[in-house]
Amino acid sequence: MSRRTGFFFDERCFWHAAGSHSLVLPVGGWLQPPSGSGHAESAESKRRLKCLMDVSGLSDQLLLSSAPMASETDLLRVHPEHYLQRFKAMSDAGHGDLGEEACVGPGTFEIARQSAGLAIAAVDSVLQGQVDNAYALSRPPGHHCLADRAMGFCYLANIAIAVEAAKARHGVERVAVLDWDVHHGNGTQSIFYTRDDVLTLSIHQDGCFPVGYGGSEDIGEGPGRGFNLNLPLYPGSGDDAYRYAMDKIIVPALEKYCPDLIVVACGFDANGVDPLARMLLHSESFRAMTASVREAAERLCSGRLVMVHEGGYAEAYVPFCGHAVIEELVGKRTKVVDPFLPMLEGQQPGAAFLAFQRAAIDRMAIHLPR
Ligand code: ZN
Repeated sequence: MSRRTGFFFDERCFWHAAGSHSLVLPVGGWLQPPSGSGHAESAESKRRLKCLMDVSGLSDQLLLSSAPMASETDLLRVHPEHYLQRFKAMSDAGHGDLGEEACVGPGTFEIARQSAGLAIAAVDSVLQGQVDNAYALSRPPGHHCLADRAMGFCYLANIAIAVEAAKARHGVERVAVLDWDVHHGNGTQSIFYTRDDVLTLSIHQDGCFPVGYGGSEDIGEGPGRGFNLNLPLYPGSGDDAYRYAMDKIIVPALEKYCPDLIVVACGFDANGVDPLARMLLHSESFRAMTASVREAAERLCSGRLVMVHEGGYAEAYVPFCGHAVIEELVGKRTKVVDPFLPMLEGQQPGAAFLAFQRAAIDRMAIHLPR
Protein backbone atom coordinates (compact mmCIF):
# COMPACT_ATOMS: atom_id res chain seq x y z
CA MET A 1 0.00 0.00 0.00
CA SER A 2 1.39 3.40 -0.90
CA ARG A 3 1.46 6.24 1.57
CA ARG A 4 1.88 10.01 1.40
CA THR A 5 5.44 10.69 2.45
CA GLY A 6 6.93 14.15 2.94
CA PHE A 7 10.61 14.70 2.20
CA PHE A 8 12.14 17.88 3.61
CA PHE A 9 15.50 19.11 2.35
CA ASP A 10 17.31 22.34 1.59
CA GLU A 11 20.43 23.00 -0.48
CA ARG A 12 21.65 25.35 2.25
CA CYS A 13 22.21 22.32 4.53
CA PHE A 14 24.78 20.98 2.06
CA TRP A 15 26.87 24.16 2.36
CA HIS A 16 27.99 23.69 5.96
CA ALA A 17 31.80 23.31 6.05
CA ALA A 18 33.72 22.74 9.27
CA GLY A 19 37.19 23.50 7.86
CA SER A 20 40.04 21.30 6.68
CA HIS A 21 40.13 17.93 8.44
CA SER A 22 41.56 14.48 7.99
CA LEU A 23 38.47 12.30 8.70
CA VAL A 24 37.59 13.92 12.07
CA LEU A 25 40.86 15.59 13.11
CA PRO A 26 41.94 19.11 12.13
CA VAL A 27 44.93 18.95 9.80
CA GLY A 28 48.37 19.90 11.09
CA GLY A 29 51.31 18.10 12.66
CA TRP A 30 51.52 14.70 11.00
CA LEU A 31 48.10 15.04 9.37
CA GLN A 32 48.53 16.08 5.75
CA PRO A 33 45.84 18.44 4.43
CA PRO A 34 43.41 16.54 2.19
CA SER A 35 42.45 17.47 -1.35
CA GLY A 36 38.91 18.51 -0.40
CA SER A 37 37.59 19.53 3.04
CA GLY A 38 38.43 15.97 4.09
CA HIS A 39 35.93 15.98 6.96
CA ALA A 40 34.06 12.70 7.37
CA GLU A 41 30.83 14.67 7.87
CA SER A 42 30.64 16.04 4.33
CA ALA A 43 27.61 16.98 2.27
CA GLU A 44 28.21 14.21 -0.24
CA SER A 45 26.51 11.28 1.47
CA LYS A 46 23.32 13.34 1.82
CA ARG A 47 23.41 15.01 -1.59
CA ARG A 48 24.02 11.66 -3.29
CA LEU A 49 20.99 10.18 -1.52
CA LYS A 50 18.82 12.94 -2.98
CA CYS A 51 20.47 12.50 -6.40
CA LEU A 52 19.75 8.75 -6.39
CA MET A 53 16.13 9.46 -5.44
CA ASP A 54 15.84 11.88 -8.35
CA VAL A 55 17.38 9.48 -10.86
CA SER A 56 15.33 6.48 -9.70
CA GLY A 57 12.04 8.36 -9.80
CA LEU A 58 11.48 7.95 -6.06
CA SER A 59 11.43 11.74 -5.60
CA ASP A 60 8.37 11.86 -7.89
CA GLN A 61 6.49 9.72 -5.37
CA LEU A 62 7.11 12.14 -2.48
CA LEU A 63 5.92 15.55 -1.37
CA LEU A 64 9.19 17.47 -1.58
CA SER A 65 9.59 20.66 0.38
CA SER A 66 12.01 22.96 2.14
CA ALA A 67 11.05 24.66 5.40
CA PRO A 68 11.68 27.87 7.35
CA MET A 69 14.68 28.00 9.67
CA ALA A 70 13.95 27.11 13.30
CA SER A 71 12.86 30.30 15.06
CA GLU A 72 14.48 31.74 18.15
CA THR A 73 11.46 30.57 20.17
CA ASP A 74 11.94 27.03 18.81
CA LEU A 75 15.64 27.03 19.77
CA LEU A 76 15.11 28.49 23.24
CA ARG A 77 12.81 25.59 24.24
CA VAL A 78 15.94 23.41 24.27
CA HIS A 79 19.09 25.55 24.25
CA PRO A 80 20.01 28.33 26.72
CA GLU A 81 20.45 31.83 25.31
CA HIS A 82 24.16 32.05 26.26
CA TYR A 83 24.91 28.95 24.19
CA LEU A 84 23.07 30.28 21.14
CA GLN A 85 24.84 33.64 21.42
CA ARG A 86 28.26 31.95 21.63
CA PHE A 87 27.40 29.74 18.64
CA LYS A 88 26.25 32.70 16.54
CA ALA A 89 29.35 34.77 17.41
CA MET A 90 31.66 31.89 16.44
CA SER A 91 29.73 31.29 13.22
CA ASP A 92 29.86 35.01 12.33
CA ALA A 93 33.63 34.93 12.95
CA GLY A 94 33.79 31.97 10.57
CA HIS A 95 35.76 29.49 12.66
CA GLY A 96 36.15 27.90 16.11
CA ASP A 97 35.32 24.74 18.04
CA LEU A 98 32.02 24.91 19.88
CA GLY A 99 32.55 21.78 21.97
CA GLU A 100 33.90 18.31 21.24
CA GLU A 101 34.46 17.52 17.55
CA ALA A 102 32.18 20.40 16.61
CA CYS A 103 34.15 22.83 14.46
CA VAL A 104 32.19 25.79 13.18
CA GLY A 105 32.59 27.40 9.74
CA PRO A 106 31.11 30.50 8.12
CA GLY A 107 27.31 30.49 8.46
CA THR A 108 27.11 27.28 10.47
CA PHE A 109 24.62 28.90 12.87
CA GLU A 110 22.10 29.70 10.13
CA ILE A 111 22.65 26.36 8.38
CA ALA A 112 22.08 24.50 11.66
CA ARG A 113 18.86 26.48 12.17
CA GLN A 114 17.82 25.41 8.67
CA SER A 115 18.58 21.80 9.54
CA ALA A 116 16.46 21.97 12.71
CA GLY A 117 13.74 23.74 10.72
CA LEU A 118 13.47 20.73 8.38
CA ALA A 119 12.90 18.43 11.37
CA ILE A 120 10.24 20.76 12.79
CA ALA A 121 8.45 20.94 9.44
CA ALA A 122 8.54 17.16 8.99
CA VAL A 123 6.90 16.67 12.40
CA ASP A 124 4.38 19.45 11.70
CA SER A 125 3.35 17.93 8.37
CA VAL A 126 2.66 14.55 9.97
CA LEU A 127 0.79 15.95 12.97
CA GLN A 128 -1.35 18.16 10.72
CA GLY A 129 -2.21 15.16 8.54
CA GLN A 130 -0.72 16.64 5.36
CA VAL A 131 1.30 13.44 4.96
CA ASP A 132 1.26 9.97 6.56
CA ASN A 133 4.97 10.00 7.43
CA ALA A 134 7.98 12.17 6.67
CA TYR A 135 11.75 12.26 6.27
CA ALA A 136 13.93 15.29 7.05
CA LEU A 137 17.32 15.32 5.30
CA SER A 138 18.78 17.42 8.09
CA ARG A 139 22.46 18.46 8.02
CA PRO A 140 24.28 19.17 10.26
CA PRO A 141 23.00 16.32 12.44
CA GLY A 142 21.72 16.82 15.99
CA HIS A 143 21.66 13.77 18.26
CA HIS A 144 24.98 14.35 20.07
CA CYS A 145 24.25 17.98 20.91
CA LEU A 146 23.60 18.71 24.58
CA ALA A 147 21.46 21.67 25.65
CA ASP A 148 24.56 23.81 26.20
CA ARG A 149 27.36 22.01 24.36
CA ALA A 150 28.02 20.99 20.77
CA MET A 151 29.41 17.50 20.23
CA GLY A 152 30.15 15.08 17.41
CA PHE A 153 29.37 17.35 14.39
CA CYS A 154 26.06 18.38 16.08
CA TYR A 155 25.39 22.03 17.01
CA LEU A 156 21.63 22.09 17.61
CA ALA A 157 19.54 19.22 18.96
CA ASN A 158 17.32 18.91 15.87
CA ILE A 159 15.02 16.17 17.15
CA ALA A 160 14.65 17.61 20.65
CA ILE A 161 13.81 20.99 19.10
CA ALA A 162 11.21 19.35 16.84
CA VAL A 163 9.71 17.35 19.73
CA GLU A 164 9.40 20.45 21.91
CA ALA A 165 7.85 22.39 19.01
CA ALA A 166 5.33 19.55 18.54
CA LYS A 167 4.43 19.68 22.22
CA ALA A 168 4.10 23.49 22.21
CA ARG A 169 2.16 23.77 18.94
CA HIS A 170 0.13 20.57 18.82
CA GLY A 171 -0.12 19.48 22.45
CA VAL A 172 1.45 16.09 21.74
CA GLU A 173 1.77 14.24 25.05
CA ARG A 174 3.95 11.18 24.52
CA VAL A 175 6.79 10.98 22.02
CA ALA A 176 9.16 8.06 21.45
CA VAL A 177 12.55 8.80 19.91
CA LEU A 178 14.33 5.76 18.46
CA ASP A 179 17.99 6.41 17.62
CA TRP A 180 19.60 3.82 15.36
CA ASP A 181 22.58 5.91 14.39
CA VAL A 182 25.62 3.73 15.18
CA HIS A 183 26.74 6.23 17.81
CA HIS A 184 24.95 6.76 21.11
CA GLY A 185 22.18 9.37 21.06
CA ASN A 186 23.68 11.04 24.12
CA GLY A 187 22.32 14.52 23.42
CA THR A 188 18.70 13.44 23.07
CA GLN A 189 19.12 11.20 26.11
CA SER A 190 20.49 14.01 28.28
CA ILE A 191 17.82 16.54 27.26
CA PHE A 192 14.95 14.19 28.19
CA TYR A 193 16.68 12.15 30.91
CA THR A 194 14.45 13.24 33.80
CA ARG A 195 11.16 13.22 31.88
CA ASP A 196 8.53 10.57 31.25
CA ASP A 197 6.80 12.37 28.35
CA VAL A 198 9.59 11.44 25.92
CA LEU A 199 10.85 7.86 25.71
CA THR A 200 14.41 7.76 24.38
CA LEU A 201 15.76 4.53 22.85
CA SER A 202 19.28 4.23 21.44
CA ILE A 203 20.73 1.20 19.69
CA HIS A 204 24.43 1.71 18.99
CA GLN A 205 27.93 0.25 18.80
CA ASP A 206 29.22 -0.17 22.34
CA GLY A 207 31.86 2.39 23.27
CA CYS A 208 32.09 4.04 19.85
CA PHE A 209 31.17 7.72 20.37
CA PRO A 210 31.02 9.41 22.74
CA VAL A 211 33.38 7.16 24.67
CA GLY A 212 32.05 6.30 28.13
CA TYR A 213 28.38 6.92 27.34
CA GLY A 214 25.46 4.77 26.36
CA GLY A 215 25.45 1.84 28.75
CA SER A 216 22.30 -0.19 29.36
CA GLU A 217 22.40 0.88 33.03
CA ASP A 218 21.39 4.45 32.01
CA ILE A 219 17.63 4.19 32.46
CA GLY A 220 16.65 7.78 33.29
CA GLU A 221 16.28 9.63 36.57
CA GLY A 222 13.47 10.94 38.74
CA PRO A 223 10.20 10.95 36.79
CA GLY A 224 12.25 9.86 33.76
CA ARG A 225 13.41 6.65 35.44
CA GLY A 226 12.51 3.77 33.14
CA PHE A 227 12.04 6.04 30.11
CA ASN A 228 15.54 5.85 28.65
CA LEU A 229 16.77 2.63 27.12
CA ASN A 230 20.23 1.97 25.68
CA LEU A 231 21.12 -1.08 23.65
CA PRO A 232 24.86 -1.19 23.14
CA LEU A 233 25.79 -3.88 20.61
CA TYR A 234 29.19 -5.47 20.07
CA PRO A 235 31.36 -4.22 17.21
CA GLY A 236 30.83 -6.53 14.24
CA SER A 237 27.08 -6.83 14.78
CA GLY A 238 25.09 -7.03 11.59
CA ASP A 239 21.66 -7.65 10.16
CA ASP A 240 20.63 -10.39 12.63
CA ALA A 241 21.55 -8.43 15.76
CA TYR A 242 19.62 -5.34 14.73
CA ARG A 243 16.53 -7.25 13.60
CA TYR A 244 16.60 -9.29 16.83
CA ALA A 245 16.96 -6.10 18.92
CA MET A 246 14.03 -4.51 17.08
CA ASP A 247 11.82 -7.56 17.70
CA LYS A 248 12.83 -8.30 21.28
CA ILE A 249 13.44 -4.85 22.76
CA ILE A 250 12.58 -1.86 20.60
CA VAL A 251 9.11 -2.78 19.38
CA PRO A 252 8.01 -4.14 22.81
CA ALA A 253 9.29 -0.91 24.40
CA LEU A 254 7.28 1.16 21.93
CA GLU A 255 4.20 -0.98 22.59
CA LYS A 256 4.52 -0.56 26.35
CA TYR A 257 4.96 3.18 26.05
CA CYS A 258 2.22 3.71 23.44
CA PRO A 259 3.44 7.04 22.03
CA ASP A 260 1.43 9.64 20.10
CA LEU A 261 4.35 10.12 17.70
CA ILE A 262 7.52 8.18 16.84
CA VAL A 263 10.66 9.99 15.69
CA VAL A 264 13.66 8.05 14.38
CA ALA A 265 17.16 9.48 14.59
CA CYS A 266 18.04 7.89 11.27
CA GLY A 267 21.79 7.51 11.02
CA PHE A 268 23.24 5.18 8.38
CA ASP A 269 26.68 4.72 9.93
CA ALA A 270 25.94 1.18 11.14
CA ASN A 271 26.38 0.09 7.53
CA GLY A 272 29.22 -2.28 6.73
CA VAL A 273 31.52 0.20 4.98
CA ASP A 274 31.24 3.26 7.23
CA PRO A 275 34.64 4.79 8.11
CA LEU A 276 33.58 5.83 11.65
CA ALA A 277 32.10 2.59 12.99
CA ARG A 278 32.48 -1.18 12.85
CA MET A 279 29.04 -2.64 12.19
CA LEU A 280 27.73 -4.68 9.25
CA LEU A 281 24.27 -3.48 8.24
CA HIS A 282 23.18 -3.17 4.61
CA SER A 283 20.29 -1.59 2.76
CA GLU A 284 17.91 -4.50 3.46
CA SER A 285 18.62 -4.17 7.19
CA PHE A 286 17.55 -0.53 7.08
CA ARG A 287 14.50 -1.41 5.00
CA ALA A 288 13.47 -4.07 7.54
CA MET A 289 14.01 -1.80 10.54
CA THR A 290 11.94 0.89 8.84
CA ALA A 291 9.13 -1.60 8.17
CA SER A 292 9.24 -2.69 11.79
CA VAL A 293 8.95 0.83 13.23
CA ARG A 294 6.40 1.88 10.58
CA GLU A 295 4.16 -1.07 11.46
CA ALA A 296 4.52 -0.22 15.16
CA ALA A 297 3.54 3.38 14.41
CA GLU A 298 0.49 2.16 12.48
CA ARG A 299 -0.61 0.00 15.43
CA LEU A 300 0.13 2.60 18.12
CA CYS A 301 -0.26 6.13 16.76
CA SER A 302 -2.11 6.14 13.43
CA GLY A 303 1.19 5.74 11.57
CA ARG A 304 2.64 9.04 12.80
CA LEU A 305 6.33 8.49 12.04
CA VAL A 306 9.06 11.01 11.29
CA MET A 307 12.65 10.20 10.39
CA VAL A 308 15.40 12.75 10.82
CA HIS A 309 18.76 12.17 9.11
CA GLU A 310 21.76 11.82 11.45
CA GLY A 311 25.17 10.26 10.65
CA GLY A 312 26.46 8.09 7.83
CA TYR A 313 29.84 8.79 6.26
CA ALA A 314 30.26 6.30 3.42
CA GLU A 315 29.48 8.49 0.44
CA ALA A 316 29.16 5.50 -1.86
CA TYR A 317 26.75 3.53 0.33
CA VAL A 318 24.54 5.87 2.36
CA PRO A 319 22.45 6.63 -0.77
CA PHE A 320 21.41 2.96 -1.12
CA CYS A 321 20.52 2.60 2.57
CA GLY A 322 18.57 5.86 2.58
CA HIS A 323 16.81 4.97 -0.65
CA ALA A 324 15.59 1.69 0.87
CA VAL A 325 14.28 3.52 3.97
CA ILE A 326 12.35 6.05 1.90
CA GLU A 327 10.95 3.37 -0.43
CA GLU A 328 9.66 1.62 2.68
CA LEU A 329 8.15 4.82 4.09
CA VAL A 330 6.19 5.52 0.90
CA GLY A 331 5.41 1.84 0.22
CA LYS A 332 6.73 1.76 -3.35
CA ARG A 333 9.72 0.05 -4.94
CA THR A 334 11.75 1.51 -7.76
CA LYS A 335 14.11 -0.38 -10.06
CA VAL A 336 17.14 0.48 -7.90
CA VAL A 337 19.24 -2.55 -6.99
CA ASP A 338 21.84 -2.14 -4.23
CA PRO A 339 25.09 -3.22 -5.91
CA PHE A 340 26.88 -3.58 -2.55
CA LEU A 341 24.29 -5.94 -1.07
CA PRO A 342 25.84 -9.31 -2.11
CA MET A 343 29.22 -8.30 -0.67
CA LEU A 344 27.76 -7.20 2.67
CA GLU A 345 25.40 -10.16 2.95
CA GLY A 346 28.45 -12.37 2.52
CA GLN A 347 30.30 -10.65 5.35
CA GLN A 348 27.75 -11.20 8.14
CA PRO A 349 29.04 -12.72 11.38
CA GLY A 350 28.81 -16.47 11.97
CA ALA A 351 26.54 -18.55 14.20
CA ALA A 352 28.69 -18.36 17.35
CA PHE A 353 28.73 -14.58 17.27
CA LEU A 354 24.99 -14.40 16.55
CA ALA A 355 24.18 -16.59 19.56
CA PHE A 356 26.50 -14.54 21.78
CA GLN A 357 24.98 -11.23 20.66
CA ARG A 358 21.39 -12.51 20.90
CA ALA A 359 22.01 -13.65 24.49
CA ALA A 360 23.37 -10.19 25.34
CA ILE A 361 20.24 -8.57 23.86
CA ASP A 362 18.04 -10.94 25.88
CA ARG A 363 19.80 -9.82 29.06
CA MET A 364 19.00 -6.18 28.23
CA ALA A 365 15.27 -6.90 28.15
CA ILE A 366 15.16 -6.40 31.94
CA HIS A 367 15.56 -2.67 31.24
CA LEU A 368 12.35 -2.40 29.22
CA PRO A 369 10.48 0.76 30.26
CA ARG A 370 7.64 0.63 32.73
ZN1 ZN B 1 26.73 8.49 14.05
